[in-house]
This record gives sequence, structure tokens and C-alpha cells, in this order.
Amino acid sequence: MASDRTPPADFVTRFAPSPTGLLHLGHAYSAFEAWDAAKAAGGTCVLRIEDTDRSRVRPEFETAIYEDLSWLGLSWPEPVMRQSERHEAYAHALNRLADLGLTYPCRCTRADVRAALAAPQEDTGPVPGTPSVYPGTCRLRPMSEAGPGDAIRLNIGRALELLQDKDLTWLETGPLHAGRNAPDQESMLRTLGDVVLARKDIETAAYHLAVVVDDAAQGVTHVVRGADLIEVTPVHRLLQALLNLPVPVWHHHALVRDENGKRLAKRDDARSIRAYREAGRTPRDVRELCRAQIV
Ligand code: GLU
Repeated sequence: MASDRTPPADFVTRFAPSPTGLLHLGHAYSAFEAWDAAKAAGGTCVLRIEDTDRSRVRPEFETAIYEDLSWLGLSWPEPVMRQSERHEAYAHALNRLADLGLTYPCRCTRADVRAALAAPQEDTGPVPGTPSVYPGTCRLRPMSEAGPGDAIRLNIGRALELLQDKDLTWLETGPLHAGRNAPDQESMLRTLGDVVLARKDIETAAYHLAVVVDDAAQGVTHVVRGADLIEVTPVHRLLQALLNLPVPVWHHHALVRDENGKRLAKRDDARSIRAYREAGRTPRDVRELCRAQIV
């Protein structure tokens, strides 16, 4: 395949695993969905290593990703994009969001966030309805106060205000919410809140910012990924609008689940692609298992 990060195809999708464990059947399913879609459209599937979480990333898992995908019969353009090498692009995007007055430094620990959620809120904006949503404690802090260890958050309410006259719709082609979608502002504030974009002391961006910047840099026209990420798509769409990035089509596919209906996790080593390979199964067997979707 051509060695270019932005292949000149009309259909470019991607597979973006994090090297924090062995790939399992859920990843295999996602990879097949992406590569099959690219093949059907005469396009390309690029690979991206999402290695931003330094505390969990291990080089042997990255090596395993290449080996397992190759064994499954999949190939991709080189060089592979690695998020740990993309600091400059993320810093550029973050500066733009800061210039728009949409970011603030947050020094709350997870424990602070939990404590704040337990208490009644005052002056910090809407009280989010779910326990994991950040309540906005640091929202009034200026960027000039950003210190080491701070998280940089996006002021979602202000971002929505700024974009109120813009078309924020997107096309979803997966089984859930197929058709034209638009962000539900109330639900974004309630369920997502002011997401973290970066950490001041880590030379890289957090997931939402990195994904959006990289999808654009890799020329991704169609995002094929698991349905667990459907809820964060409005944040990605918002960031694309704020950063003037092209808008892909999204296809969120169903998840592979275990016999109890739980989606597979990296700790499910028994269902890792490697374990199937070592047990003498073939790539075709893995495809069949994925097709069943319940393993
Ligand atoms: N890196 C993410 C994961 O391994 C996928 C992110 C995405 O596809 O947007 O689950």
C-alpha cells in the first residue's frame, strides 16, 4: 500500500486501538468492520496507535497490535500514526480553543469531583445529573493560572453558545441513531459536562482532542468504531466545528459481548486474539466468532 498518512481516497476509515492490553474479539470485530467497509468502498483503512495514557501503555502491547492485525490478514499504510508523537498538533489545537476563551485549568482531583457532586452546587453552572460528570468547580479560573498537574477542560456551555448559529449536524450510518443527528445540548451538559482536553504536565492531549485532530490529519472520511463511543460523538462534532476541521460520517457498530451480555474488556485475556491463535484457531475462525457477536 502507498506510504502516506493522508491517502487520496474518497473513503478513508481508521482503526485506533490503545496499546494498554492485548486486542480481544471486540477489537477484531471493530477492525473487520473498518477494513471491510474500506474494501467495499474501494478506500483505505489507516491504523493509529492511541498511546496517550502513559501510565497504562506498554510497548509489547503495541507490538502485539501489529502482529495480531497482520495475522488476521489486515494491512495498513505506513508510517503508522502514534499519538505520543503528535504533541505539536494537539498544542496548536489547544491554543486555538484557549484563544476562543473556551478552556480553563482544573486542579480538582477525582476525590474533589466526587465531593463536589455530593454537595449542593452554587455558581458553577448546571448541576450535572450523573455522578461521573464534572460539576464545573474550576470553570472561572483563567488559563493564566494553569499549573503543573492541572487538567485543561473545555467549557461546553460556552462552546455551545459560540456555535449556536452553526450547523452541528452529522451523519450516522450505524444501526443506532442512523440518519442525520444533532447535538442535544441539554444532554451534553448533563451527561458529558466539561470534558478534559489535555493535562498540563503530560506532553499530550486527552482522548477527545487527540481523536478529532488526528482523524482530520489522517484524512478520515468515515469513522467506524464501537457503539460505546456514540455518546461522545457530539463532543467530537463540537470540537471539529471549533477547530474548523472536516466532518466525517460516523458508523458505530454493535459490540461483541460475553455470555452475560457484558462487553469485552482488555482483562478478558481468554478472548484475546493471541489466545485464539495460540489455541490453533484460524483468522477465519475469529471472523466467525466475531460474526456471532456473543462469545
Ligand atoms: N482508542 C479507542 C479504543 O481503543 C478508540 C477510539 C475511537 O475509535 O475513537 O477504544
